[in-house]
This record gives sequence, C-alpha cells and structure tokens, in this order.
Amino acid sequence: MSRPQLIPLHNASWQHQLRDAIRSREALADALQLDVHELPFSDQATAQFPLLIPHAFAARMRRGDPDDPLLRQVLAAPQETTDVDGFNRDPVGEVEQFRDDAGIVRKYQGRALLVVTGQCAINCRYCFRRHYPYADDARSSSERLADLDRLLREDDLCEILLSGGDPLLLSDNHLGSIAKRIAARGDVTLRIHTRLPIAIPDRVTESLVSALTGRVVMVVHANHDAEIDAATRSALTRLRDAGVTLLNQSVLLAGVNDDAQVLASLSDRLFEAGVLPYYLHLLDPVAGAAHFLVDDTTARRIVGQLAERRPGYLVPRLVREVPGAGSKRELAPLYNA
Ligand SMILES: *Cc1c(COP(=O)(O)O)cnc(C)c1O
Ligand code: SF4
Repeated sequence: MSRPQLIPLHNASWQHQLRDAIRSREALADALQLDVHELPFSDQATAQFPLLIPHAFAARMRRGDPDDPLLRQVLAAPQETTDVDGFNRDPVGEVEQFRDDAGIVRKYQGRALLVVTGQCAINCRYCFRRHYPYADDARSSSERLADLDRLLREDDLCEILLSGGDPLLLSDNHLGSIAKRIAARGDVTLRIHTRLPIAIPDRVTESLVSALTGRVVMVVHANHDAEIDAATRSALTRLRDAGVTLLNQSVLLAGVNDDAQVLASLSDRLFEAGVLPYYLHLLDPVAGAAHFLVDDTTARRIVGQLAERRPGYLVPRLVREVPGAGSKRELAPLYNA
C-alpha cells in the first residue's frame, strides 16, 4: 500500500515542477522579464533539441539579462545551427564503438555505465549526448534489473554508473531496487551522474534518500556558483547526511565559467554544500555547441590560476574524453611562473 505524500501547499512536487518547466521562448522571456525579441533564440535549434528549463533553475538567473551565465547554458541560440568543422553528433564515439544492445557503455576497466533514460530535467545546450539515439536503449524496469543482475555476476567489476539522460528521473522504487542489488554484492559502488539536485532541488525527497542504500557516489553537475542556492544546498546536505559521497563535474564553457574567479566561487559554494569538485571537462565537440569552446591553452591557464587561489581539494581535474582511450585524459595546469 502506498502512503499519500504530504506536499506543503507552497511547494509543488518535483514531478509537477518538471511538467511546468519552461519549454518556449515566450515562457522563458516572461520568466526573465525580457521582451521576446531580446532573447537570441532559434526555433530550428529547439526543433533539434528541445528547450527545457525548470522554473527552480530559471529563478537563479538575473532578471532582464540576456547574457546571464545560467541562461546561456540552456538557451537555444542561433549559433547552434551553424555547422562547424570537427563538431559532430557522436563526439566521444560511444554510440558506435562501446554501446551494447542494452544501452550499457563499457569504456573503462571495472566500470559499466548504464544509460537508463534519455530524459533530463533540464536540457543543456552543450550536452555531448544531445544527439544520442536514446530510443535504441528503451528498456523496461524488469529488463534493466535483469541486465544489472547479469553485470553483477561478472568478476572484474568495481562500479556501476547510472547515466542518461538523468537517472534521478527514475522512480524511487526502481532506484531502490537497483541500489539494493548492488549493495547485496558488497564490493561494487553505485555511482549516479545527475543534474537533478541542481535543476530541481525538491527531487531530493526523503523517499529518494532512503532508497539510496549501500555505497553510493553521486556526481552532480553545476557549472557556475549562481546554480547553488539555498534550496540546492539543503538538497545536497540531505544526501550527504545520508552518507552519499558527493562530487561535482563541470564543463568549461565560454561565456559561462571560463574564468578562474567564477570557478573559485563555484568550488566554495560546492564545498559549503558538502560537495568536492571532481572533473572540469573540456567541451566535447558536439554539433551545435561550438560557441561554448574554450581552447586547451586558455583552459590550462584558467586551471593554473584556480590552483593558485584555492586548496588542492577545491581544484577539479581538467579532463578530456578521447575516443578509444582507457581513461579520461588529464591536462596539466599552466602556471604564470
Ligand atoms: C566518464 C566515464 C566513466 C567514469 O570515469 P571516471 O574517470 O571513473 O569518472 C565510466 N564510463 C564511461 C563510459 C564514461 O564516459
Ligand atoms: S542534464 Fe546532463 S545529460 Fe541532461 S542535457 Fe544536461 S548535461 Fe546533458
């Protein structure tokens, strides 16, 4: 029997918030108190990859500022429709080379990544999976648990990663079944890659937290310090109090966080919320995202400056995905002297 959920009146459930998310230029302009014509916007870009922004995320953007760094991450911009050499639909080669029929991607030793859903709670324009053929991986919950049981019988396994899309769009029940199976084996970590605690902090319900049994690592995804507000901090704190190890990955994005001071503030806000920075990814050359590119030398210099301003544990590792490589490839920081 399921108990009815108590939802405070002022606070819609996360499912509601997802349903009510911003999906049109008009709704976005409205939320930001901008005239529609002040938003650089492309219908062709939204046709390729829909606009999707929860109000909880939009609320952290500056009103009236078409150049806001949070807006830039999610705005379907006209530059997306320009073809740029070297930018393609499968930038990390995972679809062709590494994915099996069940949507399991195995690139690295001991780690198996399950693409569990194609849906996200927010559509980030720079996403390397924006063209990923998710429909090919459609699995029912019971098929997925059977896939998982098969994986868990393998010897050389230390970690199962849930990715997507956003795995926290799965039901608490299903996530609980996954966590329980992994915990039963004892020597395997469950890692969840998710942007939901940032996009809709109310996703972190008591029932989600109690579903995450066993050894769990959650890698969240924030790119700018303004993404961490009080609600986000409280969601992350609930996870940490339940024993979840929290890490963050960012993507280095021109016009968003290509600045050592912004990254230093991001690390500070994350740390306050109990999260350590893990990776700072160089942009994967995905078609439609070329306007976010930061070149290697600039990237290495920014991380060098960050390293001079913060303790080592607040400096993420600058990495690149190299198709065919056995791990993410780290780039050394560049120092002034
Ligand atoms: C990034 C990634 C992982 C995890 O890599 P770590 O360096 O352990 O964080 C695992 N599988 C795939 C397919 C990945 O892309
Ligand atoms: S939440 Fe993650 S998977 Fe979804 S669009 Fe953003 S970067 Fe891509």
